This record gives sequence, C-alpha cells and structure tokens, in this order.
Amino acid sequence: MISPLTDQTIAFDGRALINGERVAARSGAVFDCLSPVDGRLLTQVARCAEADIDAAVAAARAAFEDRRWAGLAPAQRKRVMIKFADQLLAHADELALTETLDMGKPIQYARSVDVNSAANCLRWYGEAVDKVYDEIAPTADTALALITRQPVGVVGVIVPWNYPMIMAAWKIAPALAAGNSVVLKPSEKSPLTALRLAELALAAGIPPGVFNVVPGFGPEAGSPLALHMDVDCIAFTGSTRVGKQIHVMAGQSNLKRAWTELGGKSPNIVFADCPDLDRAVEAAVGSIFFNQGESCNAPSRLFVEDSIKDRFLEKALALVPRYQPANPLDKHTVMGAVVDQTQLNTVLRYIESGKQEGAKLLAGGAQALLDSGGCYVQPTVFDGVRNDMTIAREEIFGPVLSVLSFSDAAEVVKQANSSVYGLQAAVWTRDINKAHGIARALRAGTVHVNQYDEDDITVPFGGFKQSGVGRDKSLHAFDKYTETKTTWIRIDSPV
Ligand code: NAD
Repeated sequence: MISPLTDQTIAFDGRALINGERVAARSGAVFDCLSPVDGRLLTQVARCAEADIDAAVAAARAAFEDRRWAGLAPAQRKRVMIKFADQLLAHADELALTETLDMGKPIQYARSVDVNSAANCLRWYGEAVDKVYDEIAPTADTALALITRQPVGVVGVIVPWNYPMIMAAWKIAPALAAGNSVVLKPSEKSPLTALRLAELALAAGIPPGVFNVVPGFGPEAGSPLALHMDVDCIAFTGSTRVGKQIHVMAGQSNLKRAWTELGGKSPNIVFADCPDLDRAVEAAVGSIFFNQGESCNAPSRLFVEDSIKDRFLEKALALVPRYQPANPLDKHTVMGAVVDQTQLNTVLRYIESGKQEGAKLLAGGAQALLDSGGCYVQPTVFDGVRNDMTIAREEIFGPVLSVLSFSDAAEVVKQANSSVYGLQAAVWTRDINKAHGIARALRAGTVHVNQYDEDDITVPFGGFKQSGVGRDKSLHAFDKYTETKTTWIRIDSPV
C-alpha cells in the first residue's frame, strides 16, 4: 500500500530546472528553505546567479529559434497546455501541501484557490490560443496589409511569494500559449512549487528548454535576468520599489518589454446607504485577513461613513476572532503564518508605527502562537486612522485593517485617490448614480461595487499609477507576450 503524502514524507528537490534537466547552481551554492509554519528546514535550494541565468536564457533562446514549441500549430500548443493544467490537478494535494509548508497559507485555500486557479489559468490560455484571430487592415485594393501577432521570444518572469503558483501561472500561461520560451525566477521565500510546475510542464509535453526555472535571490538571479541582453520581455510581479528598478534595468540593457504588477493600498468605501451592511462587513474583514493580508489587492484602507461607523465596527470586531491564526496544515484553519521572520517583523513595525502616530488599536496588534516556531501575527484593526499616517500610506502586506471615517462623497474620493497606488477600490451604496459616478472617479485598475470578491480569469488585473504597467489575465495579457507585425503585400490586379 502506498503511504499517503504528509508534511513529514513529502520530498523536495531544490535544484534549478534548465533545458529539461534538474541541475545545481553552477557555483554549487544553496540556500535554506525554511517553513514559516514551524521554522523547520524544508530543503536546500539552488542559489542561482548570473551563470545560471545565462544557461537558462541560452536554453530558452535555442528552443525558441528551432521552433520546437513556437512552430507548433496553436491547436497543438493548446492540447499540451491543457495537459499541463491536468498535471497540476493530478498533483493537487502535493502542490497544495508544498505551498502551505513553503509560504504558510492555510492548506484548504492552497488546495481550493491556489492549485485550482493556477490550473484554470493554464487551461484557459491553452483553450484561447487557437481562437484568437489576426487582422487585415482596411487599405486600398492595391495592397494587402496583414496585422499578425508573433511571440516576443524569450520571456523572463519574476514573481513574489504571496501566491507563488498563481502569480507564475498568470504570466507563464499566456507567454507559453503564445509560443514563447520562458525563464522563471520564483521568490527566494517560496521557490518550491515553481520547480514542480516546470517538471509537470515537461511531463505534459512542453519541450525541454521552453520553460526553465532558476531559483535565487533578487539581486543575484533576478537582476541578471532583467538586465539580460538576450531576454526580449520581462514580466514582473512584486513591490513597487523593485518594479521601478525593473523598468530601469530594461532601459539600461536591450529595451526589453517590461511589464510590472506592483503594490496596492486599496480603498474600500462604505456609504450609509450600503444595501447590505453585514455583507459589507464580511467582505471588509474577510478580504483584508485572507492570505494573512498578503494580497496586493487587499482592501487595507476602509472608509466608513460617520453615521454608520460605530455599528460597522461593532459587527467587524465580532468577526475578528474567526481569523485568529492557527496551524496552516489543519484543514479548518482560515488564517495561517506570514511568509517569514522578516515579513513578521515588518508587520509588527507597522503596527507600532500606527500606535505611535495616534491610531486607536481595537484588535490584535501582536505576534501570535509564540511557541510554534513559526511566524504568526494576530488579525489587527486600527480605528481613527488618518490618510496621512504611515499605516494608511504604505503597503503593510499583513493582516492589518486601517479604518477611516468620512462624511462627504467628494472628500472621500479625493482621499481614496490620494495614494501612489491604484490597484483596486470598492464602493458600497444602493444609489446607482453614486455607484457609477464614484467608480468612474476612482483611479484604480479594478473597482468593485457592493462586493469585493468577484474574480475571474476573463477580466484584466493590474493597476493605475505606481501599481504597475500592463495587465495580467484575460485576452489582454496576450498583448504583453506578442509583437504586432504589419506585412504589406502589393497586389497588381490582373482584372
Ligand atoms: P519584492 O519586490 O521584494 O520581490 C518580488 C520578486 O522580485 C522576488 O522574486 C524577488 O527575488 C525579486 N527581486 C527582488 N529584488 C530584485 C532585484 N533587484 N532585481 C530583480 N529581481 C528582484 O516583492 P515581494 O515581497 O516578493 O512581494 C510582495 C509585493 O508584491 C507587494 O508589494 C505586493 O503588492 C506585490 N504583488 C503585486 C501583485 C499584483 O498583481 N499587482 C500581486 C502579488 C503581489
């Protein structure tokens, strides 16, 4: 009988995957991959650097040039992408367990959200790729102008640690489906599922060299990828600070196409005429504490109209105990560990700054599960926050809700927009004019009306302002991984 997979028996392989082979870093260097669940050492991971990036890019370039993947008909690539998605589902328990151990999210969500969304994304782009048509321009009869899309070539992908598989899938799925070769650098804080994805891609039939994974640290492995002269496009998700450097590196090197999905400080505006206060409370609390608050689109600034604020807060505080952190491996847990000690310290520092700057701590505010050996923080709520306080301006990326109040619609829109970020926003009102007017005025890539959790692979995801450049998801993502080509054909009509 085969023993079931448990957190004790699962075996990790931390080596890079280049040209279809598992390989150590050229230097032999490794780094420890620790679990935030309890501090245990999961495995040692290849610490890739410039030489490894060069090897991975060379493999990706060779694969692109000989057209072993790009040369397949879209319908053939579709079949392989769908098999790739099926591979994820066939290994769903292992991938979910790996994600939970590696970055601390509750196992129930790793399985139901992360694995399923990543698989769905791969399938969706696979299914889409043989249904997208090119164009013929409406020119004069003396010529034919074909407007076609071609894969850009070698795509470098750099992703963060908060949804490791989903963030990777949002980029590799459209890039691969369009016929590119990919070199993926996962976060040093959560490298393990990316390495398995590359193995599963091979098992599905994606040829060696087409999808390579090089784990390592940002400056050592990420920068050489962003600076590489033979990478045609860099697709990045992460902080605004590093995102800015990515655009500089693209400009300093070969002017590779650079796409960035960056931070957020999303405003959630609840008017007194909100159609369902309980739903608004559930959404406000559930969305900031989901994934331990480590979501770029978390509604971290909650604006509540004065007249309902006390009632709203009473209901919100009643929900907070539900989100007390617990062992992420327990299937009932809804809030797990933050990704590592560094992130835990960052969150605690922000909580301290909230107190120092005069916000009123209503719940949480401290580390939790101190005996676990892991990295846990209590769900935290601040009232009396002003928009100029550090906790309202900077992205905390932890389970910290800042509550602000307002009395005037124009003023709250001004405050909501007063942020360097513009990723998402929400407005709750039963007044259709107010809903449309405010949705239009909010400077954000996505605006929710009377809900916060709708999501679908069919809609673009990305931000205004310093929340990034470009959009993930939907058919729009193909724009990032294809070049538009015009071919003029002269027609000397014989008739
Ligand atoms: P980060 O910017 O520190 O790191 C992201 C990735 O960049 C990692 O792989 C890291 O190794 C790499 N990196 C770091 N320094 C680099 C350098 N000098 N050159 C090249 N690569 C480098 O971000 P993080 O802490 O991993 O992730 C959290 C951030 O990601 C938050 O700001 C969050 O809002 C953002 N995020 C945005 C989205 C979105 O879609 N907009 C989604 C998820 C996360």
